[in-house]
Amino acid sequence: MRGGVRSVRVPPSVTWKQGEGRVVNIVLLGAAGTGKGTQAARLIDALGVTHISTGDIFRKAVADGTPLGLEAKRYMDAGDLVPDEVTIGIVKERLAQPDCAGGFMLDGFPRTLPQAEALDAALASMDKHLDAVVAIDVPRDVLMGRLTARRQCRGCGKIYNVMGEMPTTDGVCDACGGEVYQRADDTVQAATKRLDDYDAVTSQLVPYYTAQGLLHKIDGDRPVDVVFADITAALRGAE
Ligand code: AMP
Repeated sequence: MRGGVRSVRVPPSVTWKQGEGRVVNIVLLGAAGTGKGTQAARLIDALGVTHISTGDIFRKAVADGTPLGLEAKRYMDAGDLVPDEVTIGIVKERLAQPDCAGGFMLDGFPRTLPQAEALDAALASMDKHLDAVVAIDVPRDVLMGRLTARRQCRGCGKIYNVMGEMPTTDGVCDACGGEVYQRADDTVQAATKRLDDYDAVTSQLVPYYTAQGLLHKIDGDRPVDVVFADITAALRGAE
């Protein structure tokens, strides 16, 4: 019933865990710095679904030095989007893996209208569909502050923040001893480009998914717990 209003197939009373016969397929939308990654980690735990982050897939490919990584790196370092053909291909491949059968959460994909259309087509060909799209909304000035303050461990991916938690020893991850650095895509120039891309391109997905009756817009400029509670309430159809 694409195009119609549809609610999530998860009634309010159930515990969301894989293996209970319910499949939940979700897209998490939000510009860089909205806290998507943090919310995704909590949601996959609550829902028991497979987390698919295209950013993580690209970063791993870069770290492994694969041909995909070499191609993706030049776009990522410039704060550009990796071309649709490349990105759509890796997501289709990922969705076909067995761990997606019990539900998935896409984080950072789709980011363009062609990606969203390709996702719909790919899911339809697998006899699947999306249940909900959660869009986390944060004012742009707040995002700029958050993005340029972010530091990350090259080893385990742990996130630090120059305005908040930083490693005890400068540049050395508390968790794994890896190097803590500023991602090339978190510099002011690259962050500006990423937010411009989001405003110009990815924000088109809001009307796209609203028209499908799937969109849940969440105010992300609040404490993590409050945002999480709002998302779960929206997914449970309580609001
Ligand atoms: P993220 O961690 O989601 O912010 O992604 C980091 C970078 O990976 C982005 O700035 C893009 O260069 C690339 N990337 C991730 N997801 C996509 C996507 N859906 N389409 C194009 N490029 C992407």
